[in-house]
Amino acid sequence: MTKSFYSADFKLGILGGGQLGRMFIQEAINLDVSVHILDPDANAPSAKVAHHFQQGDITDFDTVWFFGKDMDVLTIEIEHVNVDALEKLEEIGVHVYPQPRLIRMVQDKGLQKEFYAKHGIPTSPFRLIESKDGLNENQTFMPFVQKLRKGGYDGKGVQVIKTETDFEKGFDAPSVLEKFVDFEKELAVIVARSSTGEVKSFPAVELEFNPEANLVEFLFSPANISAETEEKAQKIARDIIERMQLVGVLAVELFLTKDGTVLVNEIAPRPHNSGHQTIEASFTSQYEQHLRAILGLPLGATAIIMPSVMLNLLGENGYAGPVTYNGLTESLEIAGVYPHIYGKSTTKPFRKMGHVTVMNPSLDEAKKTAQRVKELIRVQSQS
Ligand code: ADP
Repeated sequence: MTKSFYSADFKLGILGGGQLGRMFIQEAINLDVSVHILDPDANAPSAKVAHHFQQGDITDFDTVWFFGKDMDVLTIEIEHVNVDALEKLEEIGVHVYPQPRLIRMVQDKGLQKEFYAKHGIPTSPFRLIESKDGLNENQTFMPFVQKLRKGGYDGKGVQVIKTETDFEKGFDAPSVLEKFVDFEKELAVIVARSSTGEVKSFPAVELEFNPEANLVEFLFSPANISAETEEKAQKIARDIIERMQLVGVLAVELFLTKDGTVLVNEIAPRPHNSGHQTIEASFTSQYEQHLRAILGLPLGATAIIMPSVMLNLLGENGYAGPVTYNGLTESLEIAGVYPHIYGKSTTKPFRKMGHVTVMNPSLDEAKKTAQRVKELIRVQSQS
């Protein structure tokens, strides 16, 4: 990199200013790096803590171009951004990480699956379809999961199709049909690759979903898996980042099947919900790792300091409006409980409003405390 990150005029930009951007800024402060944020919402979680905040549409070419052209390094906290503008910015010498061509690939679940197939990365068999008619044509492939190729997130854009009667709820849009995986566990590995080519990965974590919301509710670190499974998960994550030549952190979501096979589900080229616990419970947080990676600095140690459970604080069902966090004060009386409140002014059912990391030398004890915290902290509206 031509300009050093500690020069007074060095500018690091992020497209998206949600909670991931906010937690990234918290780490960037430690190295005194100024962070410039572009987000459509003037009240986004990062707005109050960014060095410079600009309100604007991250999917609009001109807005991204004019924001990005003054940056030395530009990164993202969400994949749904204008990639054409990022490619142009790369051409004029802005360091855009992750690289725009990789963001383009990850935006499309069909291209992701083709990438795994091409590089021999284990993943569930799949078919690509253009519209609802494709469901009928693939009856013999059932049971499968229909996923919109573009635009889905947090389980939105994903439908399980087990029988012909499920066709009705199917999406009428370009989709991936992925063979249904009868998994034992969902795992995730965060891996990082620096602009110098150095690669480091965090130990695998185990995810437990809220069945109603299809969102991660609890995360357990480390995952309760055999050394062999850990090795398979690590190898898949490293193979993917090496093949992509991605710069930054990459979250790799995995399935562990009942017969011990590890398959990649999907990837996200940025800090991720499955790495929040690294802030307190690992030698290096995923946000600091991302910063190190995109600045070409040595990557940090990824070992766990202590077992932990991460609990997402989701807006309680039935409440919408100005938020209140009942039970937060009581939870602070418990040793090893670290709440993170994202600063969103209004709640709605299952909105990600914050998270809590619980640390304990015993993972079982951490699980008990996390359950207690879940019952204590209620994200509701004031009226
Ligand atoms: P999103 O991008 O919205 O998070 P995912 O592709 O990760 O979507 O799917 C959401 C969830 O749906 C997964 O975490 C998993 O629980 C379930 N799921 C996805 N693909 C499959 C599959 N092939 N078989 C069984 N369950 C799946």
